[in-house]
Amino acid sequence: MSEQIFDVIVIGGGPGGYVAAIRAAQLGLATALVERDELGGVCLNWGCIPTKALLHSADVLRDIAGAAAHGIDTGEVRVDLARVVARSRAVASQLNRGVTGLLKKNKVTVFKGSARFTEPRRIAVDGKHSVALTADAVVIATGARAKALPGIEADGTLVWGAREAMTPAALPKRLLVIGAGAIGVEFASFYRTLGSAVTIVEALPEILPVEDAEIAAAARRAFEAAGIVIHTGAQVTSLTRSGDGLNAILNTTNGPIEGSFDRAIVAVGVTGNVEDLGLEHTQVAVERGFIRADAYGQTAEPGIYAVGDVAGPPCLAHKASHDAVACIEHIAGQNVHPLAHNRIPGCTYSHPQIASIGLTERGAAAAGRSVRIGRFPLIGNGKAIAIGDADGMIKTLFDATTGELLGAHMVGPGVTELIHGFAIAIGSELTEAELIATVFPHPTLSEAMHESVLAAYGRALHI
Ligand code: NAD
Repeated sequence: MSEQIFDVIVIGGGPGGYVAAIRAAQLGLATALVERDELGGVCLNWGCIPTKALLHSADVLRDIAGAAAHGIDTGEVRVDLARVVARSRAVASQLNRGVTGLLKKNKVTVFKGSARFTEPRRIAVDGKHSVALTADAVVIATGARAKALPGIEADGTLVWGAREAMTPAALPKRLLVIGAGAIGVEFASFYRTLGSAVTIVEALPEILPVEDAEIAAAARRAFEAAGIVIHTGAQVTSLTRSGDGLNAILNTTNGPIEGSFDRAIVAVGVTGNVEDLGLEHTQVAVERGFIRADAYGQTAEPGIYAVGDVAGPPCLAHKASHDAVACIEHIAGQNVHPLAHNRIPGCTYSHPQIASIGLTERGAAAAGRSVRIGRFPLIGNGKAIAIGDADGMIKTLFDATTGELLGAHMVGPGVTELIHGFAIAIGSELTEAELIATVFPHPTLSEAMHESVLAAYGRALHI
């Protein structure tokens, strides 16, 4: 087996791994990246990006369906599911080629194959051409995969994981979605818009349990108004295959319910890809399915780092990329501030969209923080009324004493493109004073952010 020496080896080519490799190469480090599957990882190939393409097709369909209210009559509207899926795959391929090009441009040496530690900082790549790699620093960025639900394992035909849910050959008439996190809610929204009858089963008392409860409740009302049936505090106790369909027994707060479905999607969370890495040849510690790493990605084994989903929640691409940059700059000896994990925005691209950052009202109470809360409904926003989509609200939380912005939570149109405004504010430790003094352009949805801040201080103008 040939042997090659690098400064940094990155295992995994997703938003954690490929960004780590690019940053390392930018800093002049000889960098190798090992990927067993596709560059860009789950996010780009089978997650964030292709689902956004699908959800955009759903948005286009919703806009056409509502066109008459805007004075535009349309003819018969027909959805060609094969073309919807093909477009989503083409978008993923385009970005996959983009990442391949970026790594090449930055002179990162890419090895196709599976990486295993044979000893700390020595890796065997088992691929088309087996090779041994050594480096002073190894960054594990192997990501995460969907958690299996015991007894309800995805089979790829009737019970879908995300990949099958992204590439349907036909629209299921009746769809069961198990789990109401971001993935479950996004697929529920996509399929409902295309015409499926959708039922969501969520074990916890609320959908989107990481979100502020008031925002999650508003989102739930909107999903129910769109015809999605939602059972919270519920479990699927049995799911049996019968021909080309499924029979389910749901244990709900109103007792057991039987239901028949054509397909089911399981989206009950993720677990880190920590297996078959040869971690037993290192001191790297794994806890509850994820690698234990500090704010710079350092694991219990000197010289071995972990970033992104494999290093634990929140399992979000933007967190992975930021952690990757901090990790590499730390390896390169730079004085770097690690990412504050309580200041990472989260976005769900359903209709309505949900976006948030920082403390929820419940989180603030649990932390013993005394807060001022602002709420502004989009019905008070001119732009929201002009575009015919005024169902939503913006909620802001401020420290009652200092006025520091602690959290912001939004539900409604376009909020995933607005949340960065609050991300900058929280990252810069701004108070209500700077936000109130900021001029938000009129007429935009962003004015509702301003009004929410004003509302926290009893100064809202349009409610
Ligand atoms: P999640 O952990 O966010 O949500 C899983 C949901 O399933 C939870 O609400 C949980 O209570 C529920 N659940 C667990 N066991 C259940 C059971 N037996 N029956 C019914 N419900 C059950 O996970 P996810 O939605 O699968 O997403 C995985 C990761 O990917 C998350 O970290 C998520 O943030 C991330 N992601 C983010 C986006 C986005 O930002 N738009 C999109 C997709 C995924």
